[in-house]
Amino acid sequence: MLLECIQPAGTEKIDIRSALGRVLAEDIYAPVNLPPFNRSPLDGYAVRAEDIAAAAPDCPVLLEISQEIPAGRCSQIELGRNQAAMIMTGAPFPPGADVVIKVEDVKKTANKIEIVSSLQAYTNYCFAGEDIQRGEQALSGGEVIDPASIGILAALGIPVVPVYRLPKVAIIGTGDELVEVHEQLQPGQIFDSNSYALAAYIRQAGAKPILAGTVGDSREMIAQRIAENLDNVDMIITTGGVSVGDFDLVSEALISLGARMLFHRLAMRPGTPVLGAEKNGKLIICLSGNQAAAFVTFHLLAWPVLAGLMGISKRELTCATAVMQGQYPKTSAKRNFLRGRAFLDDGILKVRITGKQNPGVIYSTLYCNALIDVPANSPVLKAGDRVDVFLLYANGLY
Ligand code: AMP
Ligand code: MG
Repeated sequence: MLLECIQPAGTEKIDIRSALGRVLAEDIYAPVNLPPFNRSPLDGYAVRAEDIAAAAPDCPVLLEISQEIPAGRCSQIELGRNQAAMIMTGAPFPPGADVVIKVEDVKKTANKIEIVSSLQAYTNYCFAGEDIQRGEQALSGGEVIDPASIGILAALGIPVVPVYRLPKVAIIGTGDELVEVHEQLQPGQIFDSNSYALAAYIRQAGAKPILAGTVGDSREMIAQRIAENLDNVDMIITTGGVSVGDFDLVSEALISLGARMLFHRLAMRPGTPVLGAEKNGKLIICLSGNQAAAFVTFHLLAWPVLAGLMGISKRELTCATAVMQGQYPKTSAKRNFLRGRAFLDDGILKVRITGKQNPGVIYSTLYCNALIDVPANSPVLKAGDRVDVFLLYANGLY
């Protein structure tokens, strides 16, 4: 339902020097061959294979060195019969030559070389386009630009690329008890930590978070804060005020704004009260204030939406099976997503729980890179059990 509401946030052209982590908005076709010309992969002598066909230790062939071709220079001089061109790594083949003999494999005397073994034509020969052919698709739209992509773009002589605009996400913390981290705590108050953590997860995902501050438990104030941010951003995430105990103020605020409710409450733990709504084509995802609950629902629900807004083709989290390390003795009547750390051990993916699993315990989010998906009414988890996991930062798995 969430993914159906969104599309990528427009495109722009940027210099490849600032393109790392951005998402390509179009397929890129090679405008040139890579390499652009037939070239030598090593330092040696470019010769004609037929001239050395009979070379053997007891039958050396003598060739005259007729030219020198350093990298960066193109020789137009045809290689004649029984001639050799001294050639450097990366230099273009001269016309007529079809093989390179390594510099170590010849005996040089004055302006002649002696060769004692033959080579097939096109040995030690890099063909124009053997890396990437002109017209071939070099990179795919919807992929994140990594350092290798940037190298390929530069190699193809493409200094500017079309990318999707960075989506902006406003984060609003709701709750009378919240104070900003730089303020003084009064009795009964807590620091707003969700907003800061979510902003960092959003930045890590490659989008642009906007800390839109905290707001007290008031329907009007929540509605106002959502309304004043909605026009400037591509999505809003709120935390707190969606569970029944809070008199449902976020939901009432959204109704008062005329937002369309997509869902409220999901059959999962932690984070059951999560709410999804849409207004003016933008999503407002409202998470429980409990830190671990906000963490889980952010990754399972908001992260794929972020990927979609960013224009990334692969929006699903990576799934895997892992072997449980240690046990988890509690059972749940709801589908439960335990915070864990996955790691490879001797080629096997293993996962262990990252501390206490109460929804309000922030510590379980530390070093968490996997959510263990425990079906409703499962028996207790024992060490060695195979479990399904969602890998959160699959590239950073270690
Ligand atoms: P709520 O979802 O409003 O019922 O809040 C659930 C729990 O999360 C309560 O203990 C809140 O104090 C706490 N909480 C709410 N918002 C935040 C926040 N932004 N940062 C840290 N804890 C929060
Ligand atoms: Mg609250």
